Amino acid sequence: MLEIQNITKSYPGPRGVVRALDGISLRVGPGEFVAVRGPSGSGKTTLLLVAGGMLHPDEGRVLAAGHDVYRLPSEARSRLRARAIGFVFQQFHLIPYLTVFENILAPVLAQPNSGARMRAQDLIARLGLEQRRDHRPSELSSGERQRCALARALLHKPGFVLADEPTGNLDDHNGAIVLDFLSEYAASGRALLLVTHEARAAERAHRVVQLEAVVRTP
Ligand code: ADP
Ligand code: MG
Repeated sequence: MLEIQNITKSYPGPRGVVRALDGISLRVGPGEFVAVRGPSGSGKTTLLLVAGGMLHPDEGRVLAAGHDVYRLPSEARSRLRARAIGFVFQQFHLIPYLTVFENILAPVLAQPNSGARMRAQDLIARLGLEQRRDHRPSELSSGERQRCALARALLHKPGFVLADEPTGNLDDHNGAIVLDFLSEYAASGRALLLVTHEARAAERAHRVVQLEAVVRTP
């Protein structure tokens, strides 16, 4: 269960304070796929960063796997993040000098055990990347890059997946592959929170939460 309660987050800016999140609450249970929709600048990325334990909110709480995330010491929060959460980004964020196989193993590259290698190999097969296993990101299409990033995010079977516009750079065919894979993963008992401004991504969700545009206060 991932639960965010009454979250507010503001950023200081040259034209005044930007209130990116204004008292938002949301719960995603096991097996659930929740989409958050909203126009560009409505706070979607901010929401995911807060939900994923990467950005301290001004007010409110985030509860993940029974932990009050921002009450944990920062090291314990990092461990929880590494163990329990998988992130997928619009921009893929692959490591350019590693191969597909190595990128997928990146979270455990210091000490890859045989279980992780087998799981990486399995994800490569299921995501149709066999022919690209030893290629570097610059040699891949956008769709292949995102499939690689998806495999990396799911390597450790996280209980929560947070996806930030994961189909934003993909054509319909590759977008559908990514959405199918994420939906299936959620259906296996994990919680998926996906933010997007695209109808095609939101249509797949069990529930859609709409964010409104950000208000600036001088
Ligand atoms: P979205 O992902 O929906 O496009 P963001 O969460 O990225 O929205 O941004 C919400 C608002 O907060 C925007 O007005 C953006 O300019 C502002 N913002 C985001 N990050 C920062 C930051 N680090 N510093 C200042 N303002 C920011
Ligand atoms: Mg964003």
